[in-house]
Amino acid sequence: MRRTARTLEQALTGRPLLHAELRWPSAVGVDLVGRTVLGTRSYGKHLLTRFDDDRTLHTHLRMEGSWSIARTGTSAARGRSPYVRAVLGNTVWTAVGDRLGMLDVVPTRDEHTLIGHLGPDILDDAFPTDGLAEALRRLKARAAVPIAEVLLDQTVVAGIGTIWTAEPLFLLRIWPWTPADQVADPAGLLMTTRGLMVRAVASTTGPTVTGESGRGLSNYVHSRAGRPCRRCGTPIERGEVRDAPMQRPIFFCPRCQAPG
Ligand SMILES: [Zn+2]
Repeated sequence: MRRTARTLEQALTGRPLLHAELRWPSAVGVDLVGRTVLGTRSYGKHLLTRFDDDRTLHTHLRMEGSWSIARTGTSAARGRSPYVRAVLGNTVWTAVGDRLGMLDVVPTRDEHTLIGHLGPDILDDAFPTDGLAEALRRLKARAAVPIAEVLLDQTVVAGIGTIWTAEPLFLLRIWPWTPADQVADPAGLLMTTRGLMVRAVASTTGPTVTGESGRGLSNYVHSRAGRPCRRCGTPIERGEVRDAPMQRPIFFCPRCQAPG
C-alpha cells in the first residue's frame, strides 16, 4: 500500500480536482470537485486521501483492486470499465480506482474509526522503535492461533498479505501452523517480514499497483505449489489458514518447514 500511496501522492497532491466521480452506493452525491488534495497516506492496507475541506477519502484494495494513473484527457483517464469505482482528476493526471474493496468519505477527524482497531503498521518508519513491542504483545496474545493466521490478522500487525506471510516463514523455516506463542523469535520474524516488504516497495516503480503485487518468479514459495523448493528441491505445498469464507492460501516447503 505504501507504493499505491506514493503513486497517488505524486499524481494528486497539491492540485485541485477538476473531475471527481465516486461510483459507490454510499458515496452517491459526494462532491469533491474543486477540492485540493492534501496528500495520501497508507495505514496497513488502507489508503487515506485527505482534502482541504477536512474530509478524507478512505479506500482499500482488498485482493483485486488497484489505483492507476493516466494523463487527464486520455481514454484511460475516463475510467470506462464497469469495475472502476473512483476517478479523481486534475489538469495533468487522473487516478482511476479499479475493483476497490472499500470506499468511504469521512470527516478527517474520524479517520481513527476506520483504522483505530488495526495493529501497528509494519511499513511505518517508526515500526522498529515504536510499533514492534505492541505488535509482539498482540501476537503473543493470540496464543494457539497458527502463526500464518496471526501474521495475516490486521488487528495484530497491519499491512501483511499472503505473499509476505509465506516468504519470511520459509526463510526462517517456520511451520505455518506453529502456535503464535511458540514461535522462537517472533521479533526476528516481524523484522524479517518488514525487511522483505521494504525491499519490495523500494524495487517497484511504475504507475500501476495492485493489492497483491509482488507475485513473481523470484518468490521462494508463494504461488509455487508443486514446483521444487529453491533450498531442498521438495515440491512446495499449498495449504490454507483461517476458516471459510475468510480462508487464505499459504505456500510452504513441507521439508524445510516441518512442524517442530
Ligand atoms: Zn525445502
